[in-house]
Amino acid sequence: MRVGLGHDTHRLVPGRPLILAGLRIEHTKGLAGHSDADVVLHSVVDALLGAAGLGDIGDAFPDDDPSFLNADSVLFLEATMARLYVKGFRVMNVDVIIHAQEPKLGPVKTLLRENLAKLMGMSVDRVNVKAKTGEHVGHIGRAEAIACHAVVLLDDRDHEDSETL
Ligand code: MG
Repeated sequence: MRVGLGHDTHRLVPGRPLILAGLRIEHTKGLAGHSDADVVLHSVVDALLGAAGLGDIGDAFPDDDPSFLNADSVLFLEATMARLYVKGFRVMNVDVIIHAQEPKLGPVKTLLRENLAKLMGMSVDRVNVKAKTGEHVGHIGRAEAIACHAVVLLDDRDHEDSETL
């Protein structure tokens, strides 16, 4: 088994759509970024790459590459899942914490969970999404940004380079 950790932060700004876990969430602001700035998918991609020993999302999808301008981050997730599949990794589970003061994510976290599971081709019971506020302190609590943490567990039994410990 291999564990991977991912984290991401994007600023909340007017004039952008808010995209989380591949879903458009109704809000007066959205996340600033080169791509669609989906902090959830970026965190999950980083966790997957980390667990597989494949670097980070900046290596895989550089944010100065014009072809990724306003890119749908679902493409990053799909490309990463395909890379792991080819290398013989299987994703066992994913756990995510979204840190957002605004909008309130409690009402949509089940939708986010179901969509993340669908995008990853996993059953919903292997994918978990939690939401926390910033308790009105710091950049999260002042609603200046949304952040996300993700952890994944990979089964590397079929990985060509796996060694027995
Ligand atoms: Mg990002």
